[in-house]
Amino acid sequence: MIAKSMTKLLLAGDVGGTKTLLGLFDRASPRPSRILARAYGTLDFNALPDIVDVFLRESGTHPERIGTACFGAAGPVIDRAADLTNVPWRVDAREVAHAFPIGSVHLLNDLQAMAYSVWVLNESELLVLQDGHALPDGNIAIIAAGTGLGEGLLHSIGGRRIPSPSEGGHADFAARTEREIALVRDLTQRYGRADVEHVISGRGLVNLHRVCHADGCRAGVDLENPSAPAAITAAAMAQTCPGCVDVLDMFVEAYGAEAGNLALRSVATGGVFIGGGIAPKIVTAMTNGTFMRAFRDKKPLDGMLCAMPVKIVMNEEAGLLGAAVYANSI
Ligand SMILES: [Zn+2]
Repeated sequence: MIAKSMTKLLLAGDVGGTKTLLGLFDRASPRPSRILARAYGTLDFNALPDIVDVFLRESGTHPERIGTACFGAAGPVIDRAADLTNVPWRVDAREVAHAFPIGSVHLLNDLQAMAYSVWVLNESELLVLQDGHALPDGNIAIIAAGTGLGEGLLHSIGGRRIPSPSEGGHADFAARTEREIALVRDLTQRYGRADVEHVISGRGLVNLHRVCHADGCRAGVDLENPSAPAAITAAAMAQTCPGCVDVLDMFVEAYGAEAGNLALRSVATGGVFIGGGIAPKIVTAMTNGTFMRAFRDKKPLDGMLCAMPVKIVMNEEAGLLGAAVYANSI
């Protein structure tokens, strides 16, 4: 019986506001072995079981071959379900458990899932922004900007590191400069308050675009288009529009400052990991010094922040991998 269950596959998922990634893994320790993964538009479906059904059929996998499933979802998980911003249906682990003969089904917050990947990522999947010196019993912080802004922690407790979620992305945005104070005024008028995700996310790039273009956008970015964040970063990297260059500069500075805030709040002497889909696409901007200057600018504790390792997670499937690591541990 044990031998039979050991041969079963793991189903992992990373359910975001825009994209849902599903993957099949073989059990292996510490890192489950990825067999295949596919991405789907979250809004093209009405429920998580519908996406799982398409994935299993496309991959020719009978659900009875799945021993354990684990999904990360971009929202707070309460009673095995999560509501995602901009997604009109709930992500509910029980629906998957009812729809398929899978041994056990688990749901984590997406950053909590990503935290499980930190132990198994290779050096080649990480880009070092600051070497620092990781304390073996230190906490670890994770921040990830993509469609939204996720934050998560690995608390060092009794010799183990325990992943825990956070909704820090919806905490208040702290303005540090005159141009950020003007941004907060604009965001408060528009949304009633300014949270961190209003600035550091795909939507944040659009919000920053509005306040950085007094003379119009030379790159002609259409802010109503869902691809606007990518168009803004492309224009900034190619330097085709000075306003878009300012957008990316403000974005990276705010991202570094918030990563520093999270590092302070968690005393992340074990290291800070930058996940999410945006950072790997703007590596030249992330490495030009702006991010780390803002990260360290935390007197009187700048010395502590200078000693923390800071790394970009270049593997954009880290959330999926982390969900598989969790499933592998069950
Ligand atoms: Zn522009």
